[in-house]
Amino acid sequence: MSEKNFGPISGSTIFRGISGQKTIVMAANTRIATVAMGIMKAAKDTDSAVFMELARSECDLKGGYTGLTPHDFSEKMNDAAKAVQFDVWALHADHITIKKGDAAEIEGTKQLIDAQVKAGYTSFAIDASHLFNFEGKTVREELDQNIRITTELARYIKSKMNKKEFGLEVEVGEIGRKDGQGLILTKPKEAVEFITALNENEVFPHVLAIANGSTHGHVYDESGHVIEQLSIDIPQTKAIAQALRENNLHVGIAQHGITGTPRDLINLHFPKGDIIKGNVGTFWQDVVYDILKIYEPALYKEIQDWTIEKYRAQNPTKKDAQIFDGNCKFAIKEFFKEIYSVEEATEHAIQAMAYAESLVFFKAFGSYGSASRIRNAMSKNLA
Ligand SMILES: [Zn+2]
Repeated sequence: MSEKNFGPISGSTIFRGISGQKTIVMAANTRIATVAMGIMKAAKDTDSAVFMELARSECDLKGGYTGLTPHDFSEKMNDAAKAVQFDVWALHADHITIKKGDAAEIEGTKQLIDAQVKAGYTSFAIDASHLFNFEGKTVREELDQNIRITTELARYIKSKMNKKEFGLEVEVGEIGRKDGQGLILTKPKEAVEFITALNENEVFPHVLAIANGSTHGHVYDESGHVIEQLSIDIPQTKAIAQALRENNLHVGIAQHGITGTPRDLINLHFPKGDIIKGNVGTFWQDVVYDILKIYEPALYKEIQDWTIEKYRAQNPTKKDAQIFDGNCKFAIKEFFKEIYSVEEATEHAIQAMAYAESLVFFKAFGSYGSASRIRNAMSKNLA
């Protein structure tokens, strides 16, 4: 075996290696990167593959709302992998979101992709799901712009990766979008039409994000308290996976917005193998803030005051607790220096908590042992 540098491997290698198994690979969104070492250590100890990811809104050329550029993010994730000596992980660009689809936005997106490729990303999620043509007469017409832009950007990534393999995620049905009746869910027909059209364009995604009833971040009750998320529509998700299989389309499902979903529900009832990638984001931010609250109460209070002060005017009907909960992610950049220079004991507690919580996620996702299976598949390919 060649000497390992513990750099990220291609997302495609991970998806191939777990193909046909009842495994969901966790994609950890580490807005505050301190959790990464705990997550990677748990991945190593349980032999679980993992994705490390941030979305465009969180991490772009200007640092997004986390204060991290693609270069910074890559460096922090590579440092964590090296520190714990873990090798089966991918560096993923989550939600490369295109909202309008005009020339300027496409150009800016290509610049972001350039930086991600240069930083060593090994997996990419193109999200043009906002570009839905409500006037379309057929499913293909409704999805036309999403298909066109996803194709253009997938081809662009391929050319920039210069023959290197990479993971590709695409999105149909905007996650969390609501109409008068509630959340709008992706239909099996839409998923099939979307992937068929991309395949016709020689674009072959490994994983498809759908709208299946989840929401990014926390879910609240009417008085603004955080509640469990029980809204993921499992039968609809299975129906989509089945429709894709019946049409001979080789693509798994990415479950976005898992935070708040009880892990016993995931453990016992999620269709593992239909869902192959599970994104956990806000949860890791909660881990950090929960530790700061006890270990760094003065800093926590400052972050709380800043957030509530800044976002109160925009949320006149909400209670302070919900204003903080919904907007504390924007404090990460503002308090970047403080958050990344906490006491050693604080850092240790964050990593230990991230470690323990990761064990539970990897177990609930059926991930234990996945890293070895991927390593074996890799060595067979080399033979
Ligand atoms: Zn998402």
